[in-house]
Amino acid sequence: MIDSSDSKQKQEAQAELIRARAEMLCDAVSRRYTDSIGDLCVRILAGYDLDVIKEAFNKAELVFDRFTEFNKLREYCETIAGIRRGADRHVDEDCSLCRGTGWKLMRRSDDTGDMAISCECRKRKMA
Ligand SMILES: [Zn+2]
Repeated sequence: MIDSSDSKQKQEAQAELIRARAEMLCDAVSRRYTDSIGDLCVRILAGYDLDVIKEAFNKAELVFDRFTEFNKLREYCETIAGIRRGADRHVDEDCSLCRGTGWKLMRRSDDTGDMAISCECRKRKMA
């Protein structure tokens, strides 16, 4: 049985978390948080699992700078959800490359900063 008020509550809780994480992310990159950023994040992240959204924000906090488009969060969710669909996500918590996050930073080839890529320890466990 589907209780629609229950799922609405879930949606609201999810939107609240997304806004809170968006605000933290703005803080982390010294960008001013506005409601429209919160709304944008809620809109682009709707439909993803909470775990996926949290991980996308974890990744964003590593790689975002103040000029990064928030739309990137959806890209991260796609990648993370894809990895989860493909295999159980297990990372090596003692991994020295990613310190157990499953993401490691790599210098971009055009030297415009770092990007996060899926760590070998995750690939190893998936294999
Ligand atoms: Zn690792």
